[in-house]
Amino acid sequence: MSKYDVAVIGSGPGGYVAAIRCAQLGMKTAIIEKYSVLGGTCLNVGCIPSKALLDSSHHYEDAIKHFEEHGIEIPGEVKINFKKMIERKASVVDQTTKGIEFLMNKNKIDVFTGMGSFKDATHIDITSESKTETIEATNTIIATGSKPASLPFIKIDKERIITSTEALSLTEIPKHMIVIGGGVIGLELGQVYRRLGSEVSVVEYMDRIIPTMDSAQSKELTKVMKKQGVKFYLSHKVSAVSRKKNEITVTATDKKDNEVTFTGDYCLVSVGRKAYTEGLKPENAGVKITERGLVETNEHLQTNVKNIYAIGDVVKGAMLAHKASEEGSLVAEILAGQKPHIDYNLIPGVVYTWPEVASVGKTEEQLKEAKFEYKSGQFPMRALGRSRASGDTDGFVKILSDKTTDEVLGVHMVGARVADLIAEAVTAMEFRASAEDIARMSHAHPTYAEAVKEAALAATENRALHI
Ligand code: FAD
Ligand code: NAD
Repeated sequence: MSKYDVAVIGSGPGGYVAAIRCAQLGMKTAIIEKYSVLGGTCLNVGCIPSKALLDSSHHYEDAIKHFEEHGIEIPGEVKINFKKMIERKASVVDQTTKGIEFLMNKNKIDVFTGMGSFKDATHIDITSESKTETIEATNTIIATGSKPASLPFIKIDKERIITSTEALSLTEIPKHMIVIGGGVIGLELGQVYRRLGSEVSVVEYMDRIIPTMDSAQSKELTKVMKKQGVKFYLSHKVSAVSRKKNEITVTATDKKDNEVTFTGDYCLVSVGRKAYTEGLKPENAGVKITERGLVETNEHLQTNVKNIYAIGDVVKGAMLAHKASEEGSLVAEILAGQKPHIDYNLIPGVVYTWPEVASVGKTEEQLKEAKFEYKSGQFPMRALGRSRASGDTDGFVKILSDKTTDEVLGVHMVGARVADLIAEAVTAMEFRASAEDIARMSHAHPTYAEAVKEAALAATENRALHI
């Protein structure tokens, strides 16, 4: 029987990063993945394919809506080859997952294909179609991720009533896609299909979209996406979804308790994701699972069984790839005797719509609720030369800082390339910068990043230069 210092179950951005870091630190490492392709949700049916479709559909939208204003004329009709778009997405995924295979090889990590399940706390059975083998592991890291959640009355048929997984591989462009849930997935994929010509109706339970982000971001994104033609039905509680041949009917009740029905040809259910531990048999090792189905861990991501750790979507916290990866590195370093730390307040959140939405730290609502005394500085993208040059004038950067010390407490952005700009805010906050620290740093001109400096100036002494 093969024996390892560490076995990692699951090869998503949590698991594969944990495996690489363990190998870098000199541990004999195995990774177990039930699918024949590595990379987990993120690489196969999550972050990467959704961004590939967002980018392709963005090019199309630019070609039909914005080229003309730049003096670019396309003779004849611009057409979508949807099959090719989906094939390109598949090839981006393929290249990315092959990259993970390469990294496993390079770091001498043994890859096992099959369902990993605990036999006991130090032995893992790996079951594939052809055989079951058992390995011994001194330590195990559970990184089994998550699956789409649904509502109890919805039957996901994977054809017309679908989750993000199917929405990334459709064979036709929907005529009318009804999106249940105005969170990250609903908005990103809703925008993809809106750009490609679908009617898109987002039915959201809360009174605003992206309800966990700063409300100024919800407001701005709603405004822009409405202009793009997406219809929003907020404060609507979905109560039924049914299918007759190719017609889907979604029933909801609005704020005033009126029943509202929507009919379309596709319904995307994007109401969150749930931790995945099916087939893992944690009970054989004595690992505790919470009532919500998460693997229970302490602040070191250790389960109640001392040689078993868990990371990523299967444990508490934001379901984000970079959060999973940070946790993977953290556990590897703990196993190597180091004392790593993650500041969860500084894990950024991004929505890759256009304009993009990015956040780190506390929202204004959270500061108000905590009765924290803060200052706020905001700068609109439309006041930037760079934004006018590219034509991306929607959005803003907002910086919230401590009223007394000026320490930056939260940064919230909407605009072009803010998914990349948020890194500056994370760096500043990791070093506990004040708004004035950011305001005094030189930002190249003309860049979108100048909005960060201007918002910091506004937060410092209300002295933004260009508004
Ligand atoms: P996963 O990536 O889910 O990987 C878990 C792996 O474990 C899977 O490969 C699974 O097959 C395997 N597995 C499970 N059980 C077993 C078992 N018993 N034996 C063997 N293998 C097993 N996050 C971002 O940060 N940015 C984004 O842009 C983004 N976009 C997304 C878009 C979509 C459409 C979706 C659905 C998600 C997106 N996410 C994004 C979220 C991101 O994908 C997850 O947070 C991330 O993949 C979690 O990583 P993980 O390693 O914990 O789990
Ligand atoms: P989400 O939690 O972002 O959004 C779910 C939305 O559905 C919420 O707005 C919620 O209020 C709404 N909702 C819940 N029940 C409802 C009901 N009965 N009727 C109407 N609306 C209802 O979840 P998601 O969009 O499904 O994404 C799942 C996870 O994947 C998220 O945790 C996210 O972190 C991750 N993800 C991240 C990215 C990214 O980082 N860019 C992209 C996609 C997914």
